[in-house]
Amino acid sequence: MIRVRNISKRYGDHFAIKNISFDIERGKIYGLLGPNGAGKSTTMNIITGCLSATEGTVTVDGKDIFREPLEAKKKIGYLPEIPPLYSEMTPAEYLAFVAEAKGVPYEESIRQVKEVLALTGTDVVADRLIRNLSKGYKQRVGIAQALLGSPEIIILDEPTVGLDPKQMIEIRSLIKELGKTKTVIVSSHILSEINAVCDHVMIISHGRLVANDSIEALEESVGSEHKLYITVRGEAQKALALLNTVAEVTDVNEEEPSSTNTCRLSMRFDTNNDPRETIFYKLAENKLPIIDMTTDQVTLEDIFLRLTSEPLLEEENDAENENEKDTSDYVPQFAPRKEEDS
Ligand code: ADP
Ligand code: MG
Repeated sequence: MIRVRNISKRYGDHFAIKNISFDIERGKIYGLLGPNGAGKSTTMNIITGCLSATEGTVTVDGKDIFREPLEAKKKIGYLPEIPPLYSEMTPAEYLAFVAEAKGVPYEESIRQVKEVLALTGTDVVADRLIRNLSKGYKQRVGIAQALLGSPEIIILDEPTVGLDPKQMIEIRSLIKELGKTKTVIVSSHILSEINAVCDHVMIISHGRLVANDSIEALEESVGSEHKLYITVRGEAQKALALLNTVAEVTDVNEEEPSSTNTCRLSMRFDTNNDPRETIFYKLAENKLPIIDMTTDQVTLEDIFLRLTSEPLLEEENDAENENEKDTSDYVPQFAPRKEEDS
């Protein structure tokens, strides 16, 4: 229902995102996962029509988000990274205001406000000033706002950031609940969160899409991969050099600082091609006794770290542009009003 094709966003000569394409199908919960600065908010702002892309197209049920924004945006409810809340209003007032701004007819808006208040559990604070609500409740009001107008797609940008663990769990179960009737895209920099709520994960790193798969498929792809840890009595450099000659292992690294005469090394291998015997003899022949050897299955966390830790060479000199936050082409969802005290 959403088709994203080759979108890029350039600020000066720095690409916030580059050449991102994906499809969003009806009825699933999608996770957009990536470390801070990876390009999650930029991607979400573009697919919701809040930010123009330098290149590429986004269509929602065939409607181009830039050419037919009214049609396309109707189908999407968005909670941006900084929720557009008016702190001097109560949730009830604010939601009525948003419903009106979204063009929901009056009678219908009364029904919808009631419904989203109940659904997000904000009915109990409906008449308190937003300013006085906890971060968790503010976030719920933000989600309630996204649900008004009955959009089919809900897009939530890091909805659990800044929440305490209990609030996080509550928001996660709310997202799961929404996923039963809506298509949801949620971003996060926390893998376990995406793992807990999403069916499908898109990993973004340095502005590029580096993985786009179901959680099961990703888990399966790492199934036979293992990590091997060995502790060796002897010099780390010598052991590293020897291990680097073993064809079946990759990513040989020295772990935490070694004690006086031992070192701890880690590497990856595939269980279909077990290098442990080779390693044992090789190190023994070179008088580097192994005093400990353990293995560990490669986890999604490892995959995530690997996919997101390798910087792309061409982007290494971009640091100087990081602070030039130019928001001139940001188009707010509805009636803009600056908030100073949130
Ligand atoms: P995320 O949401 O994953 O943390 P963002 O999409 O906010 O990442 O940012 C991606 C990259 O684009 C970052 O390097 C960020 O500094 C840069 N960036 C985002 N917005 C702007 C802007 N308005 N001007 C310049 N650079 C920007
Ligand atoms: Mg962000």
